[in-house]
Amino acid sequence: MQELLQPISAAFPVSRRLLEPLARLKLLRVIDLLNHFPRGYSQRASVKDLKAGMHACLVAKVVSASNKATKKRRLKLTEVLLDDGSGLIKAVFFNQPWLVSRFAPDTVLRLSGLVDYNYGEWSIKPANWEFADQAELTSTQAAPLIAEYPLVEGIGNDDLSGLVALALPRFAPLVPDLLPEELSRRLRLMPQAEAYTQAHTPADGKRLQAALLSLKYREFFLLQVGLRLRRRSEAADETLKISVDEDLRQRALKYFPFEMTGAQRRVCQDIEKDLTHAGRMHRLLQGDVGSGKTAVALYASLLMVGSGFQCAWLAPTEVLARQHLASLTRYLAGTRVKIGLLLGGMARATRSVLLGELESGKMHIVIGTHALLEDDVQFARLGLCVIDEQHKFGVNQRAQIRRKGQRPHLLAMSATPIPRTLSMTLYGGLDVSIIDELPPGRMPVRTEWVHRSREQAAYEKIRREIAGGGRAYFIYPLVNESENVEAKSAIEFAERLKNEHFPEFRVGLVHGQMSGEQKEDVMARFRAGEIDILAATVVVEVGVDVPEANVMVIENAERFGLAQLHQLRGRVGRGQRQSFLYLFGDPRTEDAIKRLNALCATNDGFKIAEEDLKMRGFGDFAGTRQSGVPKLHAGDFEKDLDALAQARKDAALFGAVISEENVRDCLELHFGREFRLMDV
Ligand code: ADP
Ligand code: MG
Repeated sequence: MQELLQPISAAFPVSRRLLEPLARLKLLRVIDLLNHFPRGYSQRASVKDLKAGMHACLVAKVVSASNKATKKRRLKLTEVLLDDGSGLIKAVFFNQPWLVSRFAPDTVLRLSGLVDYNYGEWSIKPANWEFADQAELTSTQAAPLIAEYPLVEGIGNDDLSGLVALALPRFAPLVPDLLPEELSRRLRLMPQAEAYTQAHTPADGKRLQAALLSLKYREFFLLQVGLRLRRRSEAADETLKISVDEDLRQRALKYFPFEMTGAQRRVCQDIEKDLTHAGRMHRLLQGDVGSGKTAVALYASLLMVGSGFQCAWLAPTEVLARQHLASLTRYLAGTRVKIGLLLGGMARATRSVLLGELESGKMHIVIGTHALLEDDVQFARLGLCVIDEQHKFGVNQRAQIRRKGQRPHLLAMSATPIPRTLSMTLYGGLDVSIIDELPPGRMPVRTEWVHRSREQAAYEKIRREIAGGGRAYFIYPLVNESENVEAKSAIEFAERLKNEHFPEFRVGLVHGQMSGEQKEDVMARFRAGEIDILAATVVVEVGVDVPEANVMVIENAERFGLAQLHQLRGRVGRGQRQSFLYLFGDPRTEDAIKRLNALCATNDGFKIAEEDLKMRGFGDFAGTRQSGVPKLHAGDFEKDLDALAQARKDAALFGAVISEENVRDCLELHFGREFRLMDV
């Protein structure tokens, strides 16, 4: 193990000029080098054997090189005519006119890239190129597949293959293999050390595929075994175990002015089971906006409070925190459950009173923003942490709140569903409950994409709705980075609504540059019906609950992402009357058109999430803060779902026979020290 963790430059001589580029590639230790897999492979070929569209690697010598004039001033073309002994090919370089002076006739180059055939002429757009030896030109025993590594300025493909070739024979056999004998026999995977060798220096296509599969599978298996391990270490802890009898259940349920839906009841049961057994609840509650997640979280909180514990509710924005306070206050009116609100920038005195009440245990439920995470926020007996809109928080923040108290139970809520296939596999250590039913009487929101020419008609329909007792949101996108401009254009927009379109109604405005209290004041008036039309920037995106609001107009809808549009739509359709969403705007790109069509086609948040994932791709998803996804070396969460699912199954069967220490070592070796197992 230690040998794999030593610096590359301690293991073998590394040219000084490479040290800095290696560091930029994050290749510091020997194991990093082994795990730096090629991003692709190109086929070593001669010009006479080329096929148009293939990714080829050629060795050829320069015949001539010249810069070409183009019509575009910024585009400079360099054309290099090459000869590999079997034929001629033209290499085209963009915006590197200085290359001409380096490509003297008879210089030998090795280049790889996409080749094409047009008008009787071969051409290649080199993705990679290097100077090569004369000897290579005539050599016949070159490998048929050539690894192409991710590179940065200052280090070439040759440099990397050279280092890897040094590392493979000495170090690949030292990488510990976590797979139990029986499992690797059953799966007939290529042995790990050989797989490393074949992945970097493939003998042929077939062995390359087998090698990649073996490495991917092993990576996923390690990840899944790691996730199980973390759960096991907590499983026996009884610190937060409560008991729930019919009396407590009934006392909790009587705070709700409605019957829970079937889906809510099912989830409440899941939660009860978690809370009454040893170990920590670690549950993600997914449900479309308005499906009643907040009610379920309150039920869970009441069980904990009834058993002598405190609860902390973490919300991503002040508006949402205040809103939770308002609705919890309504549910709990006239009870002894004491709830409080903790925000950033509170008056010192108020804050210290609140902190005192948390520390003494007098305060039962505290709702707050990031301010809750601060070190001086201490609890007497924190038992449950509810995280609303969990994807708005980073992995570290989620871990931070869990470090308070004795690692409280965790209930994370999200209306932006992670597609099921993904959540089951990716979050192998997390339980997921889904509310797939809306409270009774809800009608799906009618969504319509309104062409500019038909906006007037939409205004008339909206007028009738409001006259009939409805209320409307007009959502205005952030058009400008600058705060002042944002505020100004939102204000102008509200003025226009008031003066031009709806002089007979009361128009209010909320935008991001208002203070928390100002925002809350306007929201409260909208909730109370003192405002008919609320012009708003995206501050209303999450969680705002005004059941009477039944119309939403989204201006320049093409500027919003699909998930965000769906979130916004969730602000309406919360009451008894039919709700409408009008999308204004004129999308120019195909993607934007797809988004608007997808939104009109379904109200189902899960379908929308799948669609969103398809459109944006997994890379985008993994890059977001919600993911907490480790960086994989061999596998790909998007493309290798089958291997991932298989590894998950096998980890459940075989995980128990692997020693904990072994798993920890392998995790650290493979994913690095900074990687902690995913927390929600
Ligand atoms: P979410 O947090 O999922 O967006 P909420 O818990 O805020 O949903 O519920 C949305 C609205 O529906 C609230 O006004 C709430 O009072 C109401 N509600 C929740 N559950 C029910 C139910 N079972 N029956 C009727 N209304 C409900
Ligand atoms: Mg909510």
